[in-house]
Amino acid sequence: MPELPEVETVRRTLAPIVGAQMVRTWWSGKNLRLNTPVDIEALRAASRNAQVEAVRRLGKYILIDLQGQTETILVHLGMSGRLRFFPKGEARPSHTHVEWRLKDGRSLRYSDPRRFGNVELVVRGEERAHKSLAKLGPDPLDDGLDSAALRAGCQRTSRPIKVALLDQSLVAGVGNIYASEALFQARIHPKTPANKLSLARCSRLAEAIVAVLERALSHGGTSLKDFISADGHAGEHSHYLWVYDREGQPCPEPSCAGKVRRSIQQGRASFHCPRCQRS
Ligand SMILES: [Zn+2]
Repeated sequence: MPELPEVETVRRTLAPIVGAQMVRTWWSGKNLRLNTPVDIEALRAASRNAQVEAVRRLGKYILIDLQGQTETILVHLGMSGRLRFFPKGEARPSHTHVEWRLKDGRSLRYSDPRRFGNVELVVRGEERAHKSLAKLGPDPLDDGLDSAALRAGCQRTSRPIKVALLDQSLVAGVGNIYASEALFQARIHPKTPANKLSLARCSRLAEAIVAVLERALSHGGTSLKDFISADGHAGEHSHYLWVYDREGQPCPEPSCAGKVRRSIQQGRASFHCPRCQRS
């Protein structure tokens, strides 16, 4: 599932469509997230002859602002969604669900084999009123992460910190990969109850989250299965992961003889070094 660095990579690589004019919008007719149909008539009306003014991001949501339109296109990539632009004449890949034809012949396409993502419209300037955006916590890439605020959020729950981090209200955009990576960097065991973390450890964790996300962003994100940037490149960060998906491999800390351990928390795999991250 794309996390913050991957979605930000998509946002940045969409820069070449800013200024382009949309002329036609197509829908596959297949329902997307929660079996919801795309409101194609509204999407067509908003997109017709509209110029792309900006591409923004809020947490893991991409917003495409259209010049002169009161509504913004909101895209969530779900598990396997891709938002990519294609040169003129390039065939539509399978599992494409929404396509915007641009006046210069290029196409912007949303594809999603698993259809957990979504394409919809929101009123511009009122994006935060959307039910999924209303509860988003601070965005570590945009706002940084204040350790006192993270501590206050942690104090409200006794859930294990790894599980609490996946809840987008504590921190926006951290998912399974970067939660494991940040907890490793901060040397915190993933099963530690969130409300047992001292301010010093929350401060280490806040720094680790920002550092881990920025490091992944500098590599264009992590591509395990589906993720690809808007200009068609896989992220390189999977080569740089410390513990995620590295069960049984030596701990990356040179002075440590531990081996990475895999466990399951709330049905999701967690990875940690039992020596560096003591419970
Ligand atoms: Zn270790």
